[in-house]
Amino acid sequence: MPRIAYVNGRYVPHVAASVHIEDRGFQFADGVYEVVTVIAGTLMDEEGHLARLTRSLKELSIPWPVKPRTLRMIMREVVRRNRSANALLYIQITRGPAPRDFKFPAEPTPTLVITCRRTSFQPASALEKGVAVITLPDIRWQRRDIKSISLLPQALGKQQAVQAGAFEGWQVDPDGFVTEGCSSNAWIVTKQGMLVTRPASHAILNGITRQTILACATQEGIAFEERAFTVAEALDAAEALMTSAGTIALPVTRIDGQPIGDGRPGPLAKRVREMYLAHGGVADPVRAGGV
Ligand code: PMP
Repeated sequence: MPRIAYVNGRYVPHVAASVHIEDRGFQFADGVYEVVTVIAGTLMDEEGHLARLTRSLKELSIPWPVKPRTLRMIMREVVRRNRSANALLYIQITRGPAPRDFKFPAEPTPTLVITCRRTSFQPASALEKGVAVITLPDIRWQRRDIKSISLLPQALGKQQAVQAGAFEGWQVDPDGFVTEGCSSNAWIVTKQGMLVTRPASHAILNGITRQTILACATQEGIAFEERAFTVAEALDAAEALMTSAGTIALPVTRIDGQPIGDGRPGPLAKRVREMYLAHGGVADPVRAGGV
């Protein structure tokens, strides 16, 4: 069955899907995106992702290519046409094609691309053993709250992490505080059992998974603090974890080669993951296959 993509009003075979060479997304990274995880047919945190998309578009004055209601319908149709129970749904909106010029076109025709990629998520070993991260300087711009398609620093960081045998890179600000992962939010659990993650600001992308986990933690009475933490504090923490739509929540058991806590996934990382999935009403797609 061929993969199907949606491009500006048409459902097309993925291999034949294309946009204009003068699309401002291609020329200037002038666009935004969202990634929605589909687990057993459920679009996880759809509301949150659409709310953030609305905000990102507004911050960059990119008009909606279709009404939000229509977008929801297309998202479902792309999932349906790809027969994907477990998948990552990518929604990308750019300011559209225009003769190359830094200033905005007077009447933009935004581009909307939606693709769907089946996934089996991370291997079960990521849950059983946890993942390794390395730390690196945060070299990004100062509006990281906008989910921009300008992802070069994150691509460089992730590549550096992979070359170091790690799963993710944790970016660090000039004061030594962790901002976030290249494509995830960063968390620690202190020795006192306090869950800690950096507060939402222009310095990080306010993860939708992060927001749902904080809401669940409030409901379940799990103590948390939204504050920045240093690399030194993370190295000395009882646990560390990372969250994103694509990874849900993964225990981080090594930072820069040093074991965190006893070097094994801790109880709170496990609980956070279970809590998030239970909130979404789905079983763990990694464990569901049987570990
Ligand atoms: N921070 C960055 C830089 C990201 O790219 C992502 C993933 N899109 C996240 C955090 C996590 O956000 P979410 O939980 O919405 O996937």
